[in-house]
Amino acid sequence: MNKNKYLLFFVALLLLSGLGYCSKKIDGFDIKNIFEKENLTPVLVIGSGPAGLMASIYGARGGKKTFLVEGNKPGGLLMDTTEVANWPGEKMIEGPHIIEKLRDQARHQKVHFIQDYVDKIDTASWPYTVYLESGTVLRALTIIIATGASPRKLGVAGEENYWGAGVTSCAVCDAPFFRGENVVVAGGGDSAIEEAIQLSSFASKITILVRKDRMRAADSMQSRLKNYPKIDVKYNVEVREIIGNLESVTGVKLYNNRTQETELFSTSGVFLAVGHIPNSGFVKKNIRTDGDGYILVNHPRHEASVPGIFAAGDIADKIYRQAVTSAGSGTEAALDAVRFLDDHGYSNQVAKQVVSQFYSSKAVRSQEKLLSINSMAELQDLITSNEEKLIVLDFWTETCSSCKQLLPLLKEISQSFANTLLFIPIDADEATDLVDAFEITRVPTLVTLKKGAVLDKYTGFLGKKELRTYFEKMLSEVNLKAEDPVES
Ligand code: NDP
Repeated sequence: MNKNKYLLFFVALLLLSGLGYCSKKIDGFDIKNIFEKENLTPVLVIGSGPAGLMASIYGARGGKKTFLVEGNKPGGLLMDTTEVANWPGEKMIEGPHIIEKLRDQARHQKVHFIQDYVDKIDTASWPYTVYLESGTVLRALTIIIATGASPRKLGVAGEENYWGAGVTSCAVCDAPFFRGENVVVAGGGDSAIEEAIQLSSFASKITILVRKDRMRAADSMQSRLKNYPKIDVKYNVEVREIIGNLESVTGVKLYNNRTQETELFSTSGVFLAVGHIPNSGFVKKNIRTDGDGYILVNHPRHEASVPGIFAAGDIADKIYRQAVTSAGSGTEAALDAVRFLDDHGYSNQVAKQVVSQFYSSKAVRSQEKLLSINSMAELQDLITSNEEKLIVLDFWTETCSSCKQLLPLLKEISQSFANTLLFIPIDADEATDLVDAFEITRVPTLVTLKKGAVLDKYTGFLGKKELRTYFEKMLSEVNLKAEDPVES
């Protein structure tokens, strides 16, 4: 009996402390701290998938100036998804279209988009200090982390060597390069089926490799496979090695965990769909995560282990992971953030007083259009008229989301390299003679030319910092070569 009383008392205490959340002011959050700070962001959303975009819409609708750092892959995983049949109010809609509509809605609510990437957060004092890849430092009153999760790799021999040369995790980007080929998809979830279906318009045969005796994918997804006779499923097989001829993939070594036999399976493409890893590395030092890296929040609210910091979407959810649940949790996290600001003295009057201290990125943003060409003849003209510069060709296609993310980054860094590099985007679907001349088999691919000769070719996505390092290294090598006596 006594035991029960203690239990009741304890539960009541827990309930009361939970209910007290809304009105309780936490020590150290003195609103006076914000008056002399620069680059203030009342609501700072990190991540631009459905969770981040909905959080930004609700932050702005809540009357708080809201900023959104887009990250290296604006739009997130929905950018790689074709048909979505479970988005509210839509019978069928493409993933990138959902993102486009949400972005429009956020822009309409005057959300301020920042094309950058968060390196780290310092939570030692409030407002929190947020360091961006570009060197910008923000002072955030609240933060909503919605950075999602990235595709997992297999970790087998050959995977890194042939990454971008037959191994990929993006069928939307790379499927057209496997026309008439035999390819495999590793994984047994919804993504594996989604990837296989995307490939079926191009490849002649697709084999899904499942490590168990059943697929994890939803029944409704599995039943879609019946309509695609080109797709086969192989169960109880594990990819042990990816094999190639140094240039591209030629096969995979498969281990059958039922028969314990190993076979060499011929294929020219390996598409990975083996789950995701939460993108929480940049906050792991400040914020509590579980063993897998998912941010822990105080259910039913979205506050993380640090007051004023919230998490939404796949970064804090390993159960539901749907676009619509992400959007919903982004909404809830923003409502929590708005309430936090209200509870800690951030009134409309205070907002008016600090309006000149809000972050403004006008000076660093560039909307300048890059010159674009479609033929070898146009390229020849450019080479002749730009002898002193290196010419960087950026091959992209309309369906490649990482290409779309790379383009604004190139636009932005083109200013700092204006005297030495000339960036030229090339639509690989249109400029077929340039695609053939530079043997482009994947996008995005950057080809750097010096006086018309190929200096370097890079396939894949690079973040802003990586792009800078890549080009700085190349420029310094060119200068060194020019200064060094040429040995014959
Ligand atoms: P899941 O985590 O659902 O599935 C991952 C799959 O990869 C599992 O079959 C798993 O096998 C397998 N796997 C993991 N590691 C390995 C390995 N080393 N070797 C071989 N296989 C491995 O991830 P998804 O990306 O498929 O889906 C994530 C979420 O997104 C889900 O909630 C899904 O419903 C959703 N989604 C929805 C879509 C839609 O509705 N159109 C489309 C795509 C995704 P095992 O089962 O043995 O653990």
